Amino acid sequence: MSQSSPQRQSGGPRGPRPVVYGRGVPGTNDKPRRPRREPVVEVWVPKTVLGRKVDSGEITSIEEILESGLRIQEAGIIKKLLPDLKSEVVDVGIIQKMTSNGQSTRFKAIVAAGNENGYLGIGRGKSKQMRIAIEKATTQAFLNVAPIKLGCGSWECRCDQHHSVPFKVRGKGGSVTIEIIPAPRGLGLVAGGKIKRLLELAGLKDAWTTAKGSTPTMSSTSKAVLDCLRQTFSQG
Ligand SMILES: [Zn+2]
Repeated sequence: MSQSSPQRQSGGPRGPRPVVYGRGVPGTNDKPRRPRREPVVEVWVPKTVLGRKVDSGEITSIEEILESGLRIQEAGIIKKLLPDLKSEVVDVGIIQKMTSNGQSTRFKAIVAAGNENGYLGIGRGKSKQMRIAIEKATTQAFLNVAPIKLGCGSWECRCDQHHSVPFKVRGKGGSVTIEIIPAPRGLGLVAGGKIKRLLELAGLKDAWTTAKGSTPTMSSTSKAVLDCLRQTFSQG
């Protein structure tokens, strides 16, 4: 690269630079290191009436909110009431389309959030930046967190613990149909990688599953899993 290269950064030391390939010899770079940015600790400031009630301790459980039928509009409410909630990126992808002025590229992400004990939510997000797509999806996942009825529907087990589904459930999402069948304690989750992870986040420990359709399509598969788990309230 010549000295007059237009890509040379302004503000740096002037004059010809010695040609160094790669990052050069460690310690010989005279450029001062940029100090590491301190991680920003997010403090939740409630914006809604419901948020303020949760923050002040007037409402202490998520069931209270769901029973009253109020809509949760802040992810902070969920984080406060379910502090052990974990989020996980289920799928990311690229959306490309032709527009009048060329190709546009955007990213999409699917994120699941669950406390591994009866709560699961799935969110989707799209953005021009991958990081923002994941952030949007995570917020959505938190807002979508809903309870799941766990139980023991296995005739081989017949215990009272919440380690499986209370009965066989079937759910659909797109072309994907998933069935979750109660299994005895200690069997583990018999499911494909990503379905298994979703069930773990929901709090299931033992279950058999069957899946039909295009299961690599995570948008359909995650919908089908959620549809299944919602059915756990349909009987009993
Ligand atoms: Zn059992």
